Amino acid sequence: ETIGANLERTVARFADREALVEVATGRRWTYAELDAAVNEVALGLMAGGVAKGDRVGIWAPNCAEWVLVQYATAKIGAILVNVNPAYRGHELAYVVRQSGMRLLISAVAHRTSDYRAMIAEIGFTDVVFIGERGWDELVENGRRSDPTALRERAATLTFDDPINIQYTSGTTGFPKGATLSHHNILNNGYFVAESVGYTEADRVCLPVPLYHCFGMVMGNLGVTSRGSCIVLPAPGFDPELTLRAVERERCTSLYGVPTMFIAELGHPDFASFDLSSLRTGIMAGSPCPVEVMKRVVSEMNMSEVAICYGMTETSPVSTMTRRDDGLARRTETVGRAMPHIEVKIVDPASGLPVPRGEAGELCTRGYSVMLGYWAQPDATAEAIDAARWMHTGDLAIMDAEGYVTIVGRIKDMVIRGGENVYPREIEEFLYTHPDIADVQVIGVPDQKYGEELMAWIIMRPGAEPLTTERLKEFGAGRLAHYKIPRYVHVVDAFPMTVTGKIRKVEMRESALDILG
Ligand code: ATP
Ligand code: MG
Repeated sequence: ETIGANLERTVARFADREALVEVATGRRWTYAELDAAVNEVALGLMAGGVAKGDRVGIWAPNCAEWVLVQYATAKIGAILVNVNPAYRGHELAYVVRQSGMRLLISAVAHRTSDYRAMIAEIGFTDVVFIGERGWDELVENGRRSDPTALRERAATLTFDDPINIQYTSGTTGFPKGATLSHHNILNNGYFVAESVGYTEADRVCLPVPLYHCFGMVMGNLGVTSRGSCIVLPAPGFDPELTLRAVERERCTSLYGVPTMFIAELGHPDFASFDLSSLRTGIMAGSPCPVEVMKRVVSEMNMSEVAICYGMTETSPVSTMTRRDDGLARRTETVGRAMPHIEVKIVDPASGLPVPRGEAGELCTRGYSVMLGYWAQPDATAEAIDAARWMHTGDLAIMDAEGYVTIVGRIKDMVIRGGENVYPREIEEFLYTHPDIADVQVIGVPDQKYGEELMAWIIMRPGAEPLTTERLKEFGAGRLAHYKIPRYVHVVDAFPMTVTGKIRKVEMRESALDILG
């Protein structure tokens, strides 16, 4: 089934139910209204000459038009190129060129980003700005078009067609364009939504960016496959606006990366918000600290909250926790393989599966694996092997019952004197130190041991900077001697990607300078 056909099926069942709410402006669409608006945009794009397979970019913060463009491009078989709202001119130039973009739909500006100026700077002229004349004309053209054109186009589409290019976060290098089909992302959204148990009564609050798979697949596609309602609390993440949207819109589900939940729980007026409508939600995207999960369950009323693990290249979700998994597993693991998806853990050197309980590289196979990286056949061949297994680059352990724990990324693993050290384990331990606000552990080259550990530490306000000696005392007797970091580097902030992930590559580079 294509994304367009799936939406129409939902519309047929739930025409008068609410489909989309943009809280910032108070605009609302029922499923019938959403479908009509999507069709206008789709026909408008066709009237402007957008053909099947053309790349149409969207560079805008979260807004209702983002959703309309997502479904409109899917209905006409154009390939939507998600552009990160936090990008700057040179990053935009890269994706415009790399994807061979035909048309860019953008907003004029957001927060400190002047999109119009940056687009002008790179000399790209095929742009439509949401809320300006170009957008109104596009919609008007669509309204005046013969709707049978849409039927004819739909007949030329198949579910294996590429429909979306999503650039990865660039945590470990330059972003790569994961190319995904209807089949990839629609199924993934559907199974995530089924697992969370959405019905037409659910209202799902999405403070996560729509340009990322978390928002557009686990959010939009999952929600509309079940007839639930998408609630967009604000253009960009804001903890207060998110909590207020949950309260006012009586949301039953809330999504977020761990740092978003931390910000919401830490809001000074947190206790004053009525979150009694919440039942479930999803935390994903980076390691989910056990403490944060527990607080989300007990203080945000999200008793059924799930953790998902995945990556852009796999549509994204490969494993997730289920409602009936029991609290320990739901907070400490990333759950089990999704329906119709295979997961195995292999020794990265030999490629052979490791015994249960041992760490290795997580590989996954199934409908969810991307078609490939856009115009990067070598990178694709490196990631997906001949038997169609996607090599995630993540290190994980699977227990006897199939529950998976993520221990870190291969690129971040440290081998000290022949011992494998997983920075995540040391970070979780150091988090328990009362003076440490945040900590990241990396490997640095060492003559004697091959690699040594270095801890980058952000101190709590007012705390005295930690020294290597003090850290040694703290770890003595509680952590194997070789896991105690040899170097301590106190900082105010870590280098981050635009999606808010910590860039250890950059930390390793600067560590070389620090150590001389
Ligand atoms: P790049 O591939 O460009 O370096 P990236 O891998 O961070 O960037 P994404 O596809 O956005 O880009 O993120 C996927 C990665 O995020 C996974 O490979 C994994 O390392 C991490 N991740 C996602 N969910 C979880 C989770 N629940 N627990 C731990 N790690 C997670
Ligand atoms: Mg990645």
